[in-house]
Amino acid sequence: KDFSTLMLAEPIQRAIAEMGYEAMTPIQEQAIPVVLAGQDVMGAAQTGTGKTAAFALPLLQRLLKHENGSASPARHPVRALVLLPTRELANQVADQVAKFAKYTKLRSAVVFGGMDMKPQVAELKKGVEVLVATPGRLLDHLEAKSVSLGQVEYVVLDEADRMLDIGFLPDLQRILAHLPKKRTTLLFSATFSTEIKRLAESYLQNPVLIEV
Ligand code: AMP
Repeated sequence: KDFSTLMLAEPIQRAIAEMGYEAMTPIQEQAIPVVLAGQDVMGAAQTGTGKTAAFALPLLQRLLKHENGSASPARHPVRALVLLPTRELANQVADQVAKFAKYTKLRSAVVFGGMDMKPQVAELKKGVEVLVATPGRLLDHLEAKSVSLGQVEYVVLDEADRMLDIGFLPDLQRILAHLPKKRTTLLFSATFSTEIKRLAESYLQNPVLIEV
């Protein structure tokens, strides 16, 4: 099936056409309608399957279509948070998100460890709707109050098995405690271990299971 069947907003369609995407990959065919419908997803998929577009495109579509209704003074609150285990993965996902959002007014940014906080703080201060982050550094920013997660509507736990392998569970728990209860949660993992299932039970609501 082609992306055109999804009736995505014109700025998104223009971006994916420019990237040369035509047919959806299997994970995209399965996950995109579910995310567009606002349901939680537990997806088994490796990198290279088109997983990033599978969550990022419907998420951007929903951010465009549903205005943030709260009376927050922040003009560009973080509305979608994507967590990844490493800076390389965070950079790759952030690059793709920026390309998908290129013709929209939505802003995105990436924060990860091993780099000066200051440029990241400046970027966050300008306001971003989509934040891609590694857990440790995001906690640093939360503690420094350079970002607030009180208005997050969507959270993606990407490469969740690798995040647990690295020992990020306590960090994830602390981050997730900052998020509103009413939100959509998407979890992607190469494997569904007992630990991953337990994580999903704690933080997802009636997730749709997707395996490719
Ligand atoms: P990912 O698994 O998200 O890391 O994507 C792997 C690569 O496939 C990236 O370079 C994407 O830009 C590309 N890609 C993802 N979905 C499609 C698609 N439907 N058509 C063509 N390329 C795609």
